[in-house]
Amino acid sequence: MIKCHIVQDLLPSYIDGLLSAETEHDLQQHLQECEACRELLAKLSTSIDNANLHVNKKEIDFLKKVRKKATKKVVTGLTVLLLVFALFTYLMAIGSPISKKDLIYNTSVEGDLWQINMELTNGKALLVKTEPIYGKKDRNGIKPIVGVLVKPRELLPSPILESDNTSFMFGSTIESFNKGDYKVILRLGDGDIVFTSDNYDR
Ligand SMILES: [Zn+2]
Repeated sequence: MIKCHIVQDLLPSYIDGLLSAETEHDLQQHLQECEACRELLAKLSTSIDNANLHVNKKEIDFLKKVRKKATKKVVTGLTVLLLVFALFTYLMAIGSPISKKDLIYNTSVEGDLWQINMELTNGKALLVKTEPIYGKKDRNGIKPIVGVLVKPRELLPSPILESDNTSFMFGSTIESFNKGDYKVILRLGDGDIVFTSDNYDR
């Protein structure tokens, strides 16, 4: 039979499961027969459990905080990324107006086709959108098409596409110009250049 004071010294190790099987066996035998040591074991067990719980809760709280902070950072990062992406795609899709000095153009007539060739000289990509120009409603309430609005825009060179176009050709039939009120408007950042039946072949 082990003495009480030895058992009591061993109890913390016993609770942690650090004793050899033999010592543990002897200690358990002592506990079966000694109420004082059993009570001490019960006390120690609960206080250690409480301490563990406390530590665990602190750890969990800490982890929660870290996770919250990390989530915030990720969300902020994503928002910034989205804004940059939105701005980039906006610029990619819309471009910005071209000033007259950055666009070289010439017109020519071939057969029954009038054409205008444009070239952007500032190293950016050229994006040209065209849209019809509508006249006043006729008797049937239909707006006739009386011209074409040509809107060249410049884009930052795309990092994704290998070749960006810097030139663009737009064509219109001479027959259209001969209708009289027909016009092609080249809309630049610093003003329009208008081609009509009066000046298209000059
Ligand atoms: Zn004892």
